[in-house]
Amino acid sequence: MFKIEPTYSFCGKNIEAYEEVYVKMCYPKSRGFTELKAFIQNEGKIICKDCFEGRQNNN
Ligand SMILES: [Zn+2]
Repeated sequence: MFKIEPTYSFCGKNIEAYEEVYVKMCYPKSRGFTELKAFIQNEGKIICKDCFEGRQNNN
């Protein structure tokens, strides 16, 4: 799967295994998934479900 820093871009929480995540990115001019993967690593922002839905829990 993706090798990205295992924290969320928004809240900085650790990403747990099998957690549902959202990736915010601009879709690249890409011809294949390999390029898409590289693009996510460079440009993608990983957002947890709470942040995505606008709910901020302060743990
Ligand atoms: Zn979050």
